[in-house]
Amino acid sequence: MSTIAANLQAVEAIIATAVRAANRPPSSVQLLAVSKTFPMEAVLEAVAAGQRAFGENYLQEGVEKIAAVARAQPDLPLEWHFIGPIQSNKTRPIATNFAWVHTVERLKIAQRLSEQRPPELGPLNVCLQVNISGEATKSGATAAELPELARQVAALPNLRLRGLMAIPEPQTDPALQRAAFARLRQLADSLRAGGLAIDTLSMGMSGDMESAILEGATIVRVGSAIFGLRHYD
Ligand SMILES: *Cc1c(COP(=O)(O)O)cnc(C)c1O
Repeated sequence: MSTIAANLQAVEAIIATAVRAANRPPSSVQLLAVSKTFPMEAVLEAVAAGQRAFGENYLQEGVEKIAAVARAQPDLPLEWHFIGPIQSNKTRPIATNFAWVHTVERLKIAQRLSEQRPPELGPLNVCLQVNISGEATKSGATAAELPELARQVAALPNLRLRGLMAIPEPQTDPALQRAAFARLRQLADSLRAGGLAIDTLSMGMSGDMESAILEGATIVRVGSAIFGLRHYD
């Protein structure tokens, strides 16, 4: 078995254990394999091991990899998620190449993605990125901005608002990890209570996926635990 296949099995076992501990249904958490900085050969190894959903952070690298993997495996239905910072003049390749975007934090970006989404591809699935660690990170909408932003994004025609995403400040203490993820879950709960039909909490990475699952993550975004250490980022 390749290292990547073995790592995938190990990550799936961690997810399964956490899902059981949380008393959640086995298929309630999707593994997004974050392949940023790794070549298409690494993606193909993961594909051979059964993985179908991949996350990319850097637009040009991601678009090139999507095309290369599609040439190598034209018949496989892979699902590509954009999880990196979005520049407003670079929305078109995101709208045309990806099935999901996790990092929408401003209405203007969402409007451009909706305008540029080719209708024949169906709606682009989006999550709103939320800054749940306060001043420690600059990315993401604030909790105060969120209800209005969510209402406006949910009304855009070629997007489907799926839920919320966060990258909390790294913590080693599981209690602190869980507290941050719980804040994101509560924000999603209150949007739902306000009438928005969202079903996704994109939270948890290699170092904190168990805590995220215990707090309700539906997508965990895992890179280094699958592909190894990155040499640049
Ligand atoms: C790189 C990255 C990940 C994966 O991080 P690991 O710690 O390698 O699992 C997940 N989410 C986002 C947004 C990232 O940029």
